[in-house]
Amino acid sequence: MRRRQFLGGLAATALVSAVGAQEGLRLSLQGSAVQGFPLFVSLTGPTEAPEIDWQGKQYKMVSSGERWRAVVPIDIDCPAQATLKVAGLERSLSVKHRNYGMQYLSISPSTLASYDDPQNKADDVAILNVIKRTEDPQLWKGNWVLPCQAPESTGFGQKRLYNGWKKGWHKGLDLAGWEGQAITAPAAGRVIHRARGIVNGNTLVISHGLGVFSSYFHMNDFAVGANETVEAGQQIGSVGGTGGFAPHLHWETRCYGAPVFPKAFLQLPADWR
Ligand SMILES: [Zn+2]
Repeated sequence: MRRRQFLGGLAATALVSAVGAQEGLRLSLQGSAVQGFPLFVSLTGPTEAPEIDWQGKQYKMVSSGERWRAVVPIDIDCPAQATLKVAGLERSLSVKHRNYGMQYLSISPSTLASYDDPQNKADDVAILNVIKRTEDPQLWKGNWVLPCQAPESTGFGQKRLYNGWKKGWHKGLDLAGWEGQAITAPAAGRVIHRARGIVNGNTLVISHGLGVFSSYFHMNDFAVGANETVEAGQQIGSVGGTGGFAPHLHWETRCYGAPVFPKAFLQLPADWR
């Protein structure tokens, strides 16, 4: 879990900006069309909340000034061509493949068994239940910052093979902080979940609005409570190894439940800062 992975620089590029067939409708897709990245969608024109159809799922857009906005996930295994539909408009995207790497892990049978423990599954379901939908408008302002000033120890998206047979993948990125090191909110938001998981350890989930959530696992302790509003840079807890791990922060960012590349939020498209 200590293998350092260097990731290429990110370019937030405008993908599509076009006037639709229906007069006054303006759809803009921004971000990087890459597997595992967030896609930033805005639409001007409709009077009622439009619903996006993307990769077989529906996402309701949220009002933001005179625009509707949503941040939708490009799945880590999204096919090379995908079509986004909203308000009678269609945009076909060429999605770049990204190789996030592979990790072979040997762990004790009891640790491996704990992943399948019904309580661990219930811990994960409780998180998923609070991050599927949102009515929160965009709560962040500016580019995000890393929640812990520590080197990356395991990158986002690595496929994993445990003990030669059990498959998984790394849904967040690991920051090798020391026990007790401050964890700060990477952006403004609202704490929507605080729990003590058996594998995830002490867990916090923050809603940042528009369907974007961040979560923090294995924390030593909490500095904020459920339903508290947090500012960017505010301490939310400290690094720990709860759940039975060496101390580190496992940090996830998700769009409507699906894990996306956390570093994409450190360099946002201009309209989304
Ligand atoms: Zn991790």
